[in-house]
Amino acid sequence: MNQNLTTDRPTFVTHLECSMTGERYEADALHGLSRVGRPLLVRYDLDMLRAMIPRAMVAARPTDLWRWRELLPVRATRDIVSLGEIETPLVPLPRSGGPNVLVKDEGRLPTGSFKARGLVMAVSMAKALGVTRIAMPTNGNAGAALAAYATRCGIETIVFCPDDTPEINVREIALQGARVYRVNGLIDDCGAIVGKGAAEGRWFDFSTLKEPYRIEGKKTMGLELAAQLGWKLPDAIFYPTGGGTGLIGMWKAFDELEALGWIGPVRPRMYAVQASGCAPIVRAFEAGAEHAERWEDASTVAAGIRVPKVVGDFLILRAVRESGGRALAVGDPAILKAVDDAAKKDGLLLCPEGGATLAAYREALRTGEVDEDERVILFNCATGLKYPMPAADVALDRHAEIDLGLL
Ligand SMILES: *Cc1c(COP(=O)(O)O)cnc(C)c1O
Repeated sequence: MNQNLTTDRPTFVTHLECSMTGERYEADALHGLSRVGRPLLVRYDLDMLRAMIPRAMVAARPTDLWRWRELLPVRATRDIVSLGEIETPLVPLPRSGGPNVLVKDEGRLPTGSFKARGLVMAVSMAKALGVTRIAMPTNGNAGAALAAYATRCGIETIVFCPDDTPEINVREIALQGARVYRVNGLIDDCGAIVGKGAAEGRWFDFSTLKEPYRIEGKKTMGLELAAQLGWKLPDAIFYPTGGGTGLIGMWKAFDELEALGWIGPVRPRMYAVQASGCAPIVRAFEAGAEHAERWEDASTVAAGIRVPKVVGDFLILRAVRESGGRALAVGDPAILKAVDDAAKKDGLLLCPEGGATLAAYREALRTGEVDEDERVILFNCATGLKYPMPAADVALDRHAEIDLGLL
């Protein structure tokens, strides 16, 4: 086992805090949303951490997610439910993207998506806090990661997904030990079922941002990026935004790294990318609003970002605005074209949500929002292998004469 997972390390969690009101909540107790119905954020004693843990010490460790132990909420090593959360590579996209474009390829993580980062943390904390049954609404990847980690530590899971969720997602969830139901509605309709059961005390609600620890897991994307880029953040980050956990998490990570003195005050512009068929954050951004209204009749090929109503809307909008970035919408044809180009020109298979970030980057280049010489990170959040691909069914009859010159 890797050395990041063999020893107990000091942890620095002091308390939890309401992201809206700042009200304090006790650490090491089970929490959902705050009293005003908003996400809770985990706070650390960063002064103490700064004094005790030099950056070079962390940099010298194996590069997986658990290298960041002191900045994460799990206290005891025995509670960590790991499936091998490796550091994901930054892959250049020279032909379909540009000379300064890197894709953070999150499809290499357990269960094939970055939902593993959030769920490994949330499930480990649920185990530490004695939770025995969890329910979740999902567009696919979160349910798969939940099922895998929860099954691994004996927690029961019930998962609800829209009935048009990609087939492979529904099957992987079932195979990894969850009870999975297809619901004739969207993810927030599934969330309503989860909420009702949670209110009746039947299970713990693991909806996006409704428990405090998925953000902490997703935060590691920001920590990792900083380390991979020599502690100098990129100029811009394009993030496919559904519930926004990753964008909110990275923004939090950058503040923590600065408080530790590990990076300076310069931040990337954060671009929240949505599909034009479901773009509540883009609409709110453009209206100058603090919150986003539900998007009716949501539809897009990028299932992972088909989230009509977002509980952390104000946190996404705040981060995007503070960073000097924008919220951008791209259409399904541009998304599919981007997936096709990255595969055919650069040999990298993106998921549709990853394709959306490439499509948005291209549009931002065109409008002058970004410059070609700026260092840009695109997030590919799941392996492209989970999604339908164009047919390839040209057959060859080995009994007939084959003209090899034509192949
Ligand atoms: C969940 C998901 C997203 C959206 O992530 P959030 O942090 O919830 O906004 C994007 N892409 C894929 C493939 C996903 O599974």
